Amino acid sequence: MKRWNGWGDDSITYPLHDAPRRFLQDLVGPGTPPQDADLTAVLRSVPATRLPMHPRVSPEPLGRLLHARGHSLPDWIDLRSGKIEAFPDGVAYPEEDVEVQELLRYAAEVGASVIPYGGGTSVVGHINALALGAPILTIDLSRLNRMLRFDETSHLATFGAGVCGPDLEAHLRARGCTLGHYPQSFEYSTLGGWIVTRSSGQQSLGYGRIERLFAGGRLDSPAGTLVLPPFPASAAGPDLREVVLGSEGRLGILTQATVRVAPLPQREEFHGLFFRDFEHGQDALREIMQARLPLCMARLSTAVETQTNLALAGHERAIHALEGLLSLRGAREDKCMLLLGCAGREGMVAATVRQATAIARARGGVHVGQTFGKQWHKSRFRTPYLRNTLWELGYAIDTLETAVSWSAIPGLVGALEQALRGGLEAVGERVHVFTHLSHLYPYGSSIYTTYLFRTASSGDREADAAETLRRWRALKAAASRVIVAHGGTISHQHGIGTDHLAYLPDEKGPLGMAALADLCDRFDPQGIMNPGKLLL
Ligand SMILES: Cc1cc2nc3c(=O)[nH]c(=O)nc-3n(C[C@H](O)[C@H](O)[C@H](O)COP(=O)(O)OP(=O)(O)OC[C@H]3O[C@@H](n4cnc5c(N)ncnc54)[C@H](O)[C@@H]3O)c2cc1C
Repeated sequence: MKRWNGWGDDSITYPLHDAPRRFLQDLVGPGTPPQDADLTAVLRSVPATRLPMHPRVSPEPLGRLLHARGHSLPDWIDLRSGKIEAFPDGVAYPEEDVEVQELLRYAAEVGASVIPYGGGTSVVGHINALALGAPILTIDLSRLNRMLRFDETSHLATFGAGVCGPDLEAHLRARGCTLGHYPQSFEYSTLGGWIVTRSSGQQSLGYGRIERLFAGGRLDSPAGTLVLPPFPASAAGPDLREVVLGSEGRLGILTQATVRVAPLPQREEFHGLFFRDFEHGQDALREIMQARLPLCMARLSTAVETQTNLALAGHERAIHALEGLLSLRGAREDKCMLLLGCAGREGMVAATVRQATAIARARGGVHVGQTFGKQWHKSRFRTPYLRNTLWELGYAIDTLETAVSWSAIPGLVGALEQALRGGLEAVGERVHVFTHLSHLYPYGSSIYTTYLFRTASSGDREADAAETLRRWRALKAAASRVIVAHGGTISHQHGIGTDHLAYLPDEKGPLGMAALADLCDRFDPQGIMNPGKLLL
């Protein structure tokens, strides 16, 4: 069963052995297991619904709790402490586009605001019920999940936009194809969610971000229906797909989406390489990207991330032996790991891997075969389960991400890590920070930073939740300010939601923000769609 206050299926755990536990303790101090609220008590705090009866809207408390929060760290603090400021007043589960239209009319008539809900995996507050005054109707789209058309000749597939990652891939794989879109939240996130948050999958380097895969679809809004035909390309004025991409539920509900699919690869390989330090790794990676080799994935970890990943992997003896060998080749304490993936036809994969590793070797890279790459591929959807384990040990972990051009990367990575590392000095707490570059482009890269700190542990659940949230806020604000100051985007892939809203005007400027507000007014004149998210 899906966890109500943590990540994933409750039958799946991610145990941490003694050595990794000691590693964490040495970094930030011993954690104290928190006293989480129990489900029955939290259910008792769900208030009576303010929505008038509707046959498609359920006021049942469990459904309302399960749709109240997503997966940001503040969301987890709310759920684990049981202090949830607002709940949806009802949840509807439409199965057809016409039911979505009917629900939008109902919401407008009764003065409710509407939160479209895909898989609820948002990490920036997108789907949260906010106490803004109006009753809240959450529309869960998971039953709009059918494959509606498959055009084998054109490699186009149309789905109900609520289809989740595994179901979408199962339909396509049965037909010899793939979308190749694998965000780490793949198990639960949905096609519609990916599109309206401008998601980026782990193999975006080969298959493309969701923008490249989204060919067209249908948006049902309070003002009417927008149909986007799946042209291969068009010069007919501005592309209205761009209006839907990143719209975060503010314009309407994407009910159908047509995506561009690819044949299943004949071969897929993931290789590991080590460099003496991050600078050498970056130079090699930039050269590989600018050579425009048809890779599907690349990920370069800083020295601290490399060390952390090796420590958490737990295979002490094997890693010790590897470190001995790497040391002979010049990769010692500051060594950085690069993973490179390639998917496609047999001959192409072999040739691409040969060329990429040749560039890396010329920059001092040591190729260690496919063991690390295979391990990454095998565990890529399992890693989020570590969040549950860490929380239960008394550690909070969060990630943030941005993208900049190559020339700005060293300055931004350094400043970001420094701001986070020293961000809790005032309360005498240490923060463990590490970064990788992934989602690579010839012109730059995304920067993905993870930070870990202790949750507060006075024993008073409410006070501890407030203090842990205060710590998170201090770190998030410091990091966001650094991103803006260094010219990075406030989000490369997670979107805006509530958590990045304050920083969007820096990026879009006054005219850009006014244009976005006008767009919302055009599609949603009463302002009922997901208020308080993306822009105020
Ligand atoms: C463990 C974990 C790992 C993650 N890894 C990645 C990653 O690798 N790459 C990445 O890009 N993101 C990642 N994310 C973030 C998140 O999964 C993405 O933002 C994802 O696209 C959200 O999809 P969802 O279906 O869960 O949408 P939800 O969280 O349900 O909703 C997100 C937003 O989309 C709107 N929405 C959803 N469906 C529709 C629809 N059909 N029509 C209109 N509006 C809609 C909602 O109103 C909301 O504003 C991760 C999150 C977690 C928790």
